Amino acid sequence: QAKKPGRPPICFFTAEMNAQVHERLRLEQDLNKVLARGELQLAFQPIFRAEDGAYVGAEVLLRWLHPERGFISPTTFIPLAESTGQIVAIGEWVLREAGRQLRRWLNAGLAPGYLAVNLSRVQLREDLEQLIRSVLHDNALPPQALELEITENILLDDHQQINAVLGRLHGQGLRFSLDDFGTGYSSLSYLRRFSFDTLKIDRSFVAPLCDDAEAAALVRAIVAMAHSLSLKVIAEGVETRAQLEFLQALGCDYMQGYLLSRPLDAEHFTTLLTRFAREPQPWGSPQVLVQ
Ligand code: C2E
Ligand code: MG
Ligand code: MG
Ligand code: MG
Repeated sequence: QAKKPGRPPICFFTAEMNAQVHERLRLEQDLNKVLARGELQLAFQPIFRAEDGAYVGAEVLLRWLHPERGFISPTTFIPLAESTGQIVAIGEWVLREAGRQLRRWLNAGLAPGYLAVNLSRVQLREDLEQLIRSVLHDNALPPQALELEITENILLDDHQQINAVLGRLHGQGLRFSLDDFGTGYSSLSYLRRFSFDTLKIDRSFVAPLCDDAEAAALVRAIVAMAHSLSLKVIAEGVETRAQLEFLQALGCDYMQGYLLSRPLDAEHFTTLLTRFAREPQPWGSPQVLVQ
């Protein structure tokens, strides 16, 4: 005898869910004050040429040092800031601070290469062009000093307006990289539609590389495809020497990852740049960087 169909489950608004909502509101309020209180910091993770280990530039990664909670990861607060629109002001601060930091290093006689800045979809508005022009002008930097990292999901909308803004910036000499390649949707069509300079292979492809023949085949195919479109390839999340050597053999152009260096604050990065001035190819020899 079959049981009568049960009622659909009832969703309770639990104490835990209530706490989560409050937590989110708190963070949102704190985010409003983050700039005024000076709680944001930039971290810099160096990028190296695969062929000879030469330092070429660094990715800028945002850090929030919350007075009570300590360090909050960008993977937590950036989506929040995107949904409230706060990312526009925060992103402007990141670009301006990156420009100022480049200028400080250049004035100190160091060779910082380029800085790659992550952009959110929300930032891709008409005024982005003006902002970037002003960052370059205020710090007397050439357009090649900045690379803009965008994820393929940004291009999902296919807004003519976004494409126009990106196209104009590209025409002015700014470089673009497609971040987290392979984790978004229908990547290949974006590669045709927009002229990127580099493609960053997501670390979820790099991690299994040495143990998984299919992962290796995928990376090999990505590199071949990128090269046939005249794109350079950066491998993200290189953590072991075996991965590094594998990626070199597959023809990857640039490397970034904990093996070579973790993201560093400006002070530690200055020390690193000072060292590169003496020793421009820190792992051209089998010597890896450590902090
Ligand atoms: P992303 O742009 O893909 O940045 C790479 C992330 O991988 C960084 O995490 C970096 O610290 C981490 N990473 C680098 N090497 C390794 C490695 O060898 N192993 C592992 N396990 N991780 C590695 P982070 O700093 O937590 O940033 C996370 C994400 O937050 C970034 O991913 C980016 O999407 C976003 N983000 C960071 N800063 C900004 C920013 O200023 N603006 C925007 N819009 N997004 C940002
Ligand atoms: Mg990035
Ligand atoms: Mg990435
Ligand atoms: Mg990634």
